[in-house]
Amino acid sequence: MCGIVGVSVIEGTAGQPAFDGLVTLQHRGQESWGIAVVGPGGVRVRRALGFASRSACGDSPHDGPVHDGPARDGLPAGRAGRVAVAHTRYSTTGATVPENSQPFVHEARRIALAHNGDLTNAAELRARLGREGYGFRSTSDSEIILALLADTGETSGPAGRHFVDTGPIVAGVARATRVLRGAYSVVCAVGDHLVAFRDPHGLRPLVAGFAEGRAVVASETCTLDALGCTEQREVEPGEVLVLRDGRQIGAHRVAQPAPRSFCVFEHLYLTRQDSRIDGTRTGATRVAFGERLALESPADADLVVAVPASGVPAARGYARAAGLPLAGALVRDEQVGRTFIEPDLRRRERKLRRKFSVGSPVDGARVVVVDDSMVRGSTMRRIVALLRESGASEVHVRIAAPPLIAPCHYGVDLVDTGELVATGRESEEVCRIIGATSLAYLSVAGMRHTLGSAAGEGLCEGCITGHYPTRVSSARDKSRLVPARTPRRTTAARLR
Ligand code: SF4
Repeated sequence: MCGIVGVSVIEGTAGQPAFDGLVTLQHRGQESWGIAVVGPGGVRVRRALGFASRSACGDSPHDGPVHDGPARDGLPAGRAGRVAVAHTRYSTTGATVPENSQPFVHEARRIALAHNGDLTNAAELRARLGREGYGFRSTSDSEIILALLADTGETSGPAGRHFVDTGPIVAGVARATRVLRGAYSVVCAVGDHLVAFRDPHGLRPLVAGFAEGRAVVASETCTLDALGCTEQREVEPGEVLVLRDGRQIGAHRVAQPAPRSFCVFEHLYLTRQDSRIDGTRTGATRVAFGERLALESPADADLVVAVPASGVPAARGYARAAGLPLAGALVRDEQVGRTFIEPDLRRRERKLRRKFSVGSPVDGARVVVVDDSMVRGSTMRRIVALLRESGASEVHVRIAAPPLIAPCHYGVDLVDTGELVATGRESEEVCRIIGATSLAYLSVAGMRHTLGSAAGEGLCEGCITGHYPTRVSSARDKSRLVPARTPRRTTAARLR
C-alpha cells in the first residue's frame, strides 16, 4: 500500500519533519524507505532497504545507503531544502531491489516523486514512453508518473535564475491524469513547490494539513497529527494541490468527476487505528465492525481473545456486544512487522512462527478469537493451534471483514487468488484448514451498514465482491514491467 509524505516549510529544513512523518507510516510498507530533500543545491536523496523506523542513523546491517551518501541522522546531506518528499515501500509492481525504492528523482528538472497505488495501464504507458526515448531506471510503475511529469519541472529564467511557474505544473498533472489509469496518490517536489494529486476515483488515501509555517501532505492523518497540523483536509479525488513556503497556493480540479471508490480495506485493516477517514478514527470503525459481527454471528463461549495489534478494536467491540470478558491471552512480538505485507513467503512463515505467543493460559475455556481480516489463513491457523496448545477446549474464529476472494489491482498485494484462503471455499472448508471449532465472517451488508453505505457506494470492494470501479485486466503480475530478457520473478517463483 506504501506510505507517502510531502513537507513544505517556510524556514528551516523540510527533511526532518518528512522523516519523522514517514516513521508514522511504517505500517504501510517495510521493504524500503527513502527521502528526497530539494533545495537550492538540487535534489539530495537517500534510499535504503528495510524499515525507516529502524534505520534513522543508517546503522542497521540491512539498511546501507543505496544512493547519494553520505547521510547524517538518516537524512540526506545538505539539509537546507524547504521541500521534501518521503516514501515507505510495500511492493505491488517491481521486485524488492534498491532501484525500485522511492522517491524517484529527475535531477535536471529538480523533481522528486513518491507514489502510492498501482497503475492498471502501466505496461502500455511504459512501452509508449520508452519508444519516445525515456530511459527508465526501475521496474516500478511509479517512475512512469515521473516520466509524464518530466516536462513540468524547473526551467532557467533571466540571468540564469531558476523559477517554477505553477501553471505548467498544474497543466502537466492534468496531462498525466488524462492518460493514467488505476490508483495513484502522489506527492512530488517540483523545484521549491510541493505538489500533491490523487486519481479521480480516490482509490488510495491522501490528506493535507497545515501548521504555523509548515504544510504537510500524507497518506494518513496520524502523520498530520504527529507533525502538529491542526488544520486538516482531504486531497479530493482528481484534485491537484500546489504548496510553497509552508502554505497552499493553489487547488485545482484536473480530472473529470468519477464515482468515488475509496478502498474499503483501508477501513478494515490498512489504516492505523488513530488515523481518521471521513472524520472517524478507524479504531472506532473497527469496534463497530466487531459489534456488528457479534450480533450477526454469536458464539457459545466463555471469553473473547483479540489478535494483537490490529484485531484489538474489533475484539473489543465483539466482547462488548456479546457481553463476554475480553482476555489479553495473545502476546505479539513487537519486533516483527506486519506479516501480511512481507513479500517473501519463507520469510513471512518464519516471522509468523515467532510473531505470537500465549501470555496467559486459557485452560479449559471456550474461546472466541477475533481478528480484523483473514487473507491467507496462515496467521489464524497458527493462532488457533497456540490457543489449543494452551488449553482452550473450543476455538471459535470470528473475522470482522467479509471473505477476501479476488485480487487487488490498485496497490494492495492481494495478487494471486491461489494465496487467498477464502477464494473458492465455503467457510466450513476454511474452518477445517485453520483448525477452528467454528468460523464466521462479517457480512458484506454488515460492513456497508457500519460504514453508512447501503449499497457500497463510495467504496471500492473489488477484493471482496470481484467488481472493480475501473476496467482491469484479469492477470496480475508484480513483475509485469520487467523486460522479457530479464528473469521474471513471478508469484509462482516466490512460492517455491
Ligand atoms: S480491490 Fe480491495 S484492497 Fe484493492 S483497492 Fe479495492 S478494496 Fe482496496
